[in-house]
Amino acid sequence: MPLVTGGEVTYAALDYAASAPALQRVWDDVAAYAPYYGSVHRGAGYLSQLSTELFEQSRATVADFLGCREGDQVVFTRSTTDSLNLLAAVLPRGTRVFVFETEHHASLLPWRDAEVTYLSAPRTPAEAVASLERALEESEQGPRLVCVTGASNVTGELWPVRELTETAHRHGARIVLDAAQLAPHHPVSLAELGVDWVAFSGHKLYAPFGSGVLAGRSDWLVDAEPYLAGGGASRKVSRREDGGVDVEWHTSAARHEAGSPNVIGAYSIASACRALAEAGFDSLVEREQALVARVRAGLAEVPQVRVLSLFGDDAPRVGVISFVVEGWNSSHFAAALSAEYGIGVRDGLFCAHPLVRTLLGGTPDEPGECGAPEAEPGERSLNAIRVSFGAGT
Ligand code: PLP
Repeated sequence: MPLVTGGEVTYAALDYAASAPALQRVWDDVAAYAPYYGSVHRGAGYLSQLSTELFEQSRATVADFLGCREGDQVVFTRSTTDSLNLLAAVLPRGTRVFVFETEHHASLLPWRDAEVTYLSAPRTPAEAVASLERALEESEQGPRLVCVTGASNVTGELWPVRELTETAHRHGARIVLDAAQLAPHHPVSLAELGVDWVAFSGHKLYAPFGSGVLAGRSDWLVDAEPYLAGGGASRKVSRREDGGVDVEWHTSAARHEAGSPNVIGAYSIASACRALAEAGFDSLVEREQALVARVRAGLAEVPQVRVLSLFGDDAPRVGVISFVVEGWNSSHFAAALSAEYGIGVRDGLFCAHPLVRTLLGGTPDEPGECGAPEAEPGERSLNAIRVSFGAGT
């Protein structure tokens, strides 16, 4: 699978879970539009008009891709991290957030101003649902939000999103789906899954860096102050007689998109959505699952390899596989794969420290950090190795 070729070097980049190479189709679309871009919602000139139209069309394409319901909003952000921080910033006062300790830090950490219930690592999908059910039963009424990932960036395992959504809604709670790793591999539909919000990143969905999406119910978004204050978010600003300033904010997605938006970013996400929709997820999933089976079979032939899994070997997963090699320092192993075989993988704790520590046989709270020194030979590994792939691999 030669993916990146430079001079004499052929290199297999198997780190799609971090950032997937943008599709050629996306680069072509961007190149065709690049000579014409202008600032949106701000000008009467041709470029500005064209860009405004393409920006809003991109929003509509993303809404289609995500199966948005009547009244849902699509807000363009910088990334999944940005999307979840935006949602955290608009939570009604007193909201309690429920989040599994196994989450990526982007889902685990943004809820700094809320009350948070951290749920322990479940060992089966059913345990995850039961654990959420218990926590919701024991919690007080009031605004509550569940944040859950669709596919783990560490194990690739799929989480029981439908069941968790049904449980959250039965208790009057809302749910946001971190689809950073799910959306590149499976259709994600707000209408079908029933989740209240979805967040994902362009650079993991075969578009370039710098853009992301938060899509879903508009009420909390419209009831809150804008995430960023500034031009674009404000409809009308006037000086008061007492010397202050009155602001009327937009009630559309623009409310949380202050400043000149990343038009090329939105356009490339829409281009990637169109390409994926046209290719059809069925064929992508089939091809990816064949690769998962091949990689797992190869790893199974090496007795020193242990594949990391929360839900067990047979759990359905996307093309993300983490493992350790007994007797090897994971960072050295990853460096050797790159230097000697031209295979680029990721090593470390994958921005999911509590989960990786648990999977490595430690405890979620033990010390250790990204880039920490590795275990001595014979000791338990402190880091893992991850291979990940997707469309185009
Ligand atoms: N959520 C998951 C599951 C991820 O894997 C990642 C990135 O690896 C993120 C959120 C954060 O994405 P970004 O860095 O694009 O904000």
